[in-house]
Amino acid sequence: EASLTRAESLIATIPDFPEPGILFRDITPLLADAAAMRAVIDAMIAPFSGTFDVVAGVEARGFVLAGAVAVAAGVGTVPIRKAGKLPRPAASVSYDLEYGQATIEMADDLPAGSRVLLVDDVLATGGTLLAGRQLLGTLGYATAGVAVLMELAELNGRAVCGDDVHAVFQV
Ligand code: IMP
Repeated sequence: EASLTRAESLIATIPDFPEPGILFRDITPLLADAAAMRAVIDAMIAPFSGTFDVVAGVEARGFVLAGAVAVAAGVGTVPIRKAGKLPRPAASVSYDLEYGQATIEMADDLPAGSRVLLVDDVLATGGTLLAGRQLLGTLGYATAGVAVLMELAELNGRAVCGDDVHAVFQV
């Protein structure tokens, strides 16, 4: 589809950020474009229509996408945050990064058994989204699906976080 092709062209590729040797995909030019934003939000939701009650976004770019997905789908959104940011964290999950460790947290304000669509910008090694899934499970929520804007396919994150991930773009 033409609007998605154009949207993909708005993702910038930045060498050596944030570390030497890393090729960083910068989605912010896409987010700034109304037509591109509309096209990717619709594409993120399409496979999951009617299957989720709320959208969870992973800090920080996942928040922007999750809010837009939520409004487009007619549901609400909740944040999955890095440790120490939420006033009332109900559960936390720690996971390994390429260098070091990360911890994410979430509150438990949703009704028990809520069906949650998990959203982030980029699927890389899959550690973040696996931790997000575990967090939802710990709190008694169901993962209705996982949707990302872009999958870095060569890192094979699907093998880690589940091959049911829906990616609008794959590079
Ligand atoms: P993973 O845990 O290795 O899959 O990394 C995914 C997390 O790191 C996501 O929350 C992304 O926002 C971030 N990330 C990894 N690589 C990139 C990139 O190239 N561009 C933007 N974010 C990235």
